[in-house]
Amino acid sequence: MTDAPPGHRAGYVALVGRPNVGKSTLLNRLLGEKLAIVSPKPQATRHKVLGILTGPGYQALFLDTPGLMEKARDELDRRMVARAEEALKEADVAVLLVEPRPPEAADRELAARVCAAARSAVLAVNKIDAVSADARAGLVETHRATGTFADALALSALTGEGVEDLRQAVVRRLPAGEPLYPADQVTDRDDRFLAAEALREKIYALYGEEIPYDTAVEIEEYREARPDEGKNKDYIRAVIYVNKESQKPILIGKGGQALKQLGAAARQDIEAILERPVFLEVWGVWLFSVDCPGAARALA
Ligand code: GDP
Ligand code: MG
Repeated sequence: MTDAPPGHRAGYVALVGRPNVGKSTLLNRLLGEKLAIVSPKPQATRHKVLGILTGPGYQALFLDTPGLMEKARDELDRRMVARAEEALKEADVAVLLVEPRPPEAADRELAARVCAAARSAVLAVNKIDAVSADARAGLVETHRATGTFADALALSALTGEGVEDLRQAVVRRLPAGEPLYPADQVTDRDDRFLAAEALREKIYALYGEEIPYDTAVEIEEYREARPDEGKNKDYIRAVIYVNKESQKPILIGKGGQALKQLGAAARQDIEAILERPVFLEVWGVWLFSVDCPGAARALA
C-alpha cells in the first residue's frame, strides 16, 4: 500500500440525499458488488466506511452517512442532520443525489447547505430512466440554473446510465493521497455483519413477499479459521427469527429443504465476498415473543 504511484488520489466521499432517492442503489452500482442494502442501526463511529471503490490511480472511501432531510422535525432529526453535516465536513467530496424533478425551495436550501459544508460537491439527478428523453436535458438545466452547484449531471443508479460520468467527477475531486485500504477490500464492515446481510438477502430472494419483512437474522457465533488448529474454515452459526408460527414451516420447508437451500445459497455469497471458505450453519428458526411483534423489523 505504500508504493502508490505518483499522482494517486484518495479521499472520503459522502453520498447524501433524502431517504429513498437511491443512495444505496447507487453505492451498490458504483462498487459493482452486493453490499449492504439496508443500513444497520446507526453507527456511533465517526469514520465508518461503507464502501471502498478502488481503481487505477484512485481510492474513494464512501462514508456511511445518515439520510439528510431538508427539515428537522424533532430532536432525533436534528441529531441526524447534525451527523450528516459532520460527515460532509469530513468528506473530501460530497455527492448530493436528488429526485428527477425541478428543485423546490426546500431542495435549494438542502443544496446550499451541502455546498456550504462540503469541500467539493457534485449534484446528481437520479432516476432519469423514469423521465422521458426530452425532459432530461431540461431537468438537469433547471438544477444548474439554481447556480448553487457549478455542475449537475444526470444518471440512473438502477440502469447504470451516467454512473461512469459520476465516478469520473468524484475521482477528479479526490485529493492527492495514497490508498488507505488494500485494493481488493470493498468495505470495512465486519465479517459477521456481511454474513448476516448475505443471509438476509437470500431470504428476500428465496421466499415470497410477506416473509422477509417479518424476519431477522442473528449471527450467534462467528469463529475465524485457525489453520494452526486444523480449522480451515470460518465457522458461522446463525438463527432466523420470525413473527408468526405459520412462517416457520415456510422457512424450514419439507424436511428442512428450504432452510438447507437458503444456507447453501448464503454460504456461496459469503465465500464470494470474503474470498475464503466458510462453514455456515443455519440451525434454527425461532419465534419472536408475542410481546415483541415489531422486533423483526427493528433488527432488520
Ligand atoms: P436510499 O434510501 O437513498 O438508499 O434509496 P434506495 O437505494 O434504497 O432506493 C429507493 C428506491 O428507489 C428503491 O425502490 C430503488 O429501486 C429506487 N431507485 C433507486 N435508483 C433508481 C433509479 O435510478 N431509477 C429508478 N427508477 N428507481 C431507482
Ligand atoms: Mg439506503
